[in-house]
Amino acid sequence: MNELFLNRMKDLLKEEYDAYIASLDQALYKGLSLNTCKCNIEFLRKQLPFTIEDSSFSKNGYRLDSNIKSMGNHWTHLAGLYYLQEPSASSAVDLLDIQPNDWVLDLCAAPGGKSSQIAVQLNHTGFLVSNEIDHRRANILLSNLERMGINENMITSASPEQLCPLMKGWFDKVLVDAPCSGEGMMKKHELARVEWSLENVEACATRQLHILNEAVVTLKKDGILVYSTCTYSQEENEAVISAFLKEHPEMELLDCGDQIQRRGIPYQDLDVSKVRRIFPMDHGEGHFICRMKKTTDTEKSSITYAKPTKVDPCVESFLKQQITHVPAYIMQFNQKVYMKQTPFIQLKNITILRQGAFTGEVIKNRFEPAHHFYLCSQWMNEWKQVVDLNEEELMTYLTGNVISSSIKGYVCIRYHGIPLGFGKGDGTMIKNKYPKGLRIK
Ligand code: SAM
Repeated sequence: MNELFLNRMKDLLKEEYDAYIASLDQALYKGLSLNTCKCNIEFLRKQLPFTIEDSSFSKNGYRLDSNIKSMGNHWTHLAGLYYLQEPSASSAVDLLDIQPNDWVLDLCAAPGGKSSQIAVQLNHTGFLVSNEIDHRRANILLSNLERMGINENMITSASPEQLCPLMKGWFDKVLVDAPCSGEGMMKKHELARVEWSLENVEACATRQLHILNEAVVTLKKDGILVYSTCTYSQEENEAVISAFLKEHPEMELLDCGDQIQRRGIPYQDLDVSKVRRIFPMDHGEGHFICRMKKTTDTEKSSITYAKPTKVDPCVESFLKQQITHVPAYIMQFNQKVYMKQTPFIQLKNITILRQGAFTGEVIKNRFEPAHHFYLCSQWMNEWKQVVDLNEEELMTYLTGNVISSSIKGYVCIRYHGIPLGFGKGDGTMIKNKYPKGLRIK
């Protein structure tokens, strides 16, 4: 490991330095965030082949034994019952104190752990914008939010300077989980160890302050801004917040409460008793979290709602056959159909990867549904035509094979009552519509 990095850690941690060094030889901390819109913890505990413990860092967070191998192909994961998330990474979202109907911006959102937590806490109310500057990572974000069954949201791919000026004063809550030098990721990623340099720490700090300066305009009066990183350097944590508060007297530093015990590390005149840190000695890989409130009004940018589009008649008849409550807003862009409970929003010159539930496509006057539609937690108990798989059929379905059944037409495929995807019956068998890229090999 880089000697300068280790010397800096010695200065930062003092008598705790040896405990930090010892932690580097221990296995990674593992955890998950429960999707309470799809199941409760008692149900999940019954389905998992191992035990999970409550995490002290967040209300829906649980710890996994570090020796557990990847859970990516377990049916509970494929059905979006949880997001695999290192325990300390789940700590920031609870500080947003999400309330029903909040409008929330997650400005640096990929791969989507914190956006998933936010959407679950919104519980199909309000509106979430999950933005990711990097287009490739934005697509990973999209597939993760799709698996988690989230649909009352918008996924964008833009830089903060492109996006934020269009959304002045829109949000009750804003999360900046900033790109950082990743000092808390060194155990997991060799690259974080190799690439560490003081120049990078300083470059990250400059970028973090810039992102916060953009983000602040999107908050309403009394809106909450949470800033987090998974790095230890003071330059990227206390120093960024100290500089930001000096530039923004309208922002008030709030206390982070009792969920996390460790306070910040003294820095100039910043009140570090209000910010929180997690180090590996606290049983998480590492996080810095801070919470602020905007005390002044911001002139709001206008919200442009998309004009209703013509929707092919086959869509409505399909929806009525499939679910008991059809959401209020259905839009058809070219052949693709999306649904939402609240009006669709238009943003000029911004790449919108997804808004609402991707319901399916109109192909030659008939409707071909999409996987996302069947995974949405919003109507998971509203399917009119279902097949409940037994244990043997579960693997048959997840590996892409046909299921014997006398059902005709499109059908939601469930296991223990939880939707996994869909298929199309012809009266003797159900053709498998589980996406090829997700099938277990
Ligand atoms: N919140 C995410 C989660 O919980 O899954 C993790 C976010 S990660 C720490 C930071 C993200 O910021 C990365 O996906 C990165 O691509 C993005 N990013 C990089 N440069 C950025 C910039 N200049 N402005 C905004 N985001 C940036």
